[in-house]
Amino acid sequence: MLGDTIAAISTPHGRGGVALLRVSGPDAESICARVFVAKNRVVLTDAPARTAIYGEMRAPDADGVWRSVDDGLATVFRAPNSFTGENTVELCCHGGILLTETILTALLTAGARQAEAGEFTRRAFLNGKLGLSSAEALGNLLEAQTREQITLAHGGLRGRLEARCEAIYTKMRHTLASIYVTIDYPDEDLADLSREEMMEAFRACEEELSALAHTYHTGHAIAEGIPTVICGRPNVGKSSLYNALVGRDAAIVTAVEGTTRDVLTETLPLGRVTLRLFDTAGLHETDDPVERIGIERAEQAMADAELILAVFNGSQPPSDEDIRLAESLRKMPSTVIAVINQSDLGVCDEAFYRAHFANCVVLSAKNGEGLEDLRACVERLFIDGTLNVREDAILTNARQHAAVLSALESVRRAIGALQAGLPIDLCCVDTETAMSSLAEVDGHAVSEDIVSDIFSHFCVGK
Ligand code: GDP
Repeated sequence: MLGDTIAAISTPHGRGGVALLRVSGPDAESICARVFVAKNRVVLTDAPARTAIYGEMRAPDADGVWRSVDDGLATVFRAPNSFTGENTVELCCHGGILLTETILTALLTAGARQAEAGEFTRRAFLNGKLGLSSAEALGNLLEAQTREQITLAHGGLRGRLEARCEAIYTKMRHTLASIYVTIDYPDEDLADLSREEMMEAFRACEEELSALAHTYHTGHAIAEGIPTVICGRPNVGKSSLYNALVGRDAAIVTAVEGTTRDVLTETLPLGRVTLRLFDTAGLHETDDPVERIGIERAEQAMADAELILAVFNGSQPPSDEDIRLAESLRKMPSTVIAVINQSDLGVCDEAFYRAHFANCVVLSAKNGEGLEDLRACVERLFIDGTLNVREDAILTNARQHAAVLSALESVRRAIGALQAGLPIDLCCVDTETAMSSLAEVDGHAVSEDIVSDIFSHFCVGK
């Protein structure tokens, strides 16, 4: 419900120098006026906006008598000039756990309702303060684990993607308007665009949507992470590579074959991208049922992976099993990088790997030499060098990608209809479908379920 006033502790739960409580809704000022009394006696409802005021925080004691519990600051933001677009008050008190909870309880007693997870951002979205893609960027910013993720999320939060989609949407709307005019007044020359110009406009939209769809390859690699599998024969150094990438001993490294029986997973930054790394059981023939299950899981993980790091012991000549693995990897749809490991012991037959794989990296998982080359290789394959992550509109999740792809498909159908010389009104349905698909990126046409799903991922107080 948008009519009520919500409150929450916006800083993390725990002890700290200061804590922030946020109150948003029509009664934010009057509710906070019961809890906060300004030193200079100004009443919050009359307080100047965006100005921190010093005063006293009050809360009811066990007998229900309101008493001073802390000193702090209150800042009032008035609709629509606030994060949520509603009247908002931010109370800043000292960061004790019991203290902040006491002040929150006071706010609830004074008439506020405890905010649900992500409710402040949800209100900002519903009040038109930010589009869904910007809200998602905010979520990514809060979750960011790498500098590249921060850069990408910050661009999204500033509305880069929103603006891009809006521009394409407007172009489609303009074209559609021309089509409607042609249909409604066939004998008059009222349409802004001729049939050729309509075609041109559609082609421009197609090009822009296609370029936007391609940004997902990069956005996905940075924001969501590339599902990656390390595979290879037992004992070639898969666990050693995994540990070298993760930077600590996460997997058990032994000289005994078949020690990795389960699939380990780890999310780790590799230069500008993020890998969602699965370390898997060695791939080879075995009768051990436990090891067999491990191998089956490894094969499934390989089928699902987007990047396969195929590890070989480069210090020995390729074995029959290596040759078979190289052959079978050719059929994989995923990107494969051959990791020619154990280079500290020498490299035996690099030409074999170069002949079988488009991407090869020589390295030593033991001493770390060559890991930089692996990073550069992955970045080259997954980051589009023509994109500026700070400035460009970039798709960062599967939901946005699906919406853009579906808009692209509809625009192509509209072009097909125009090309085939079909009646012009046949383009209308496709154009409208394209527009509503594109509008989904920023939630203008998204069902309530999807919206709820997105906001439930935020923490309370955000
Ligand atoms: P996995 O079975 O493929 O996971 O292989 P491990 O990572 O457990 O390594 C098997 C053995 O090879 C261990 O004794 C490692 O210390 C050794 N090893 C792994 N990588 C290298 C490397 O780059 N150089 C050398 N010299 N030994 C390595």
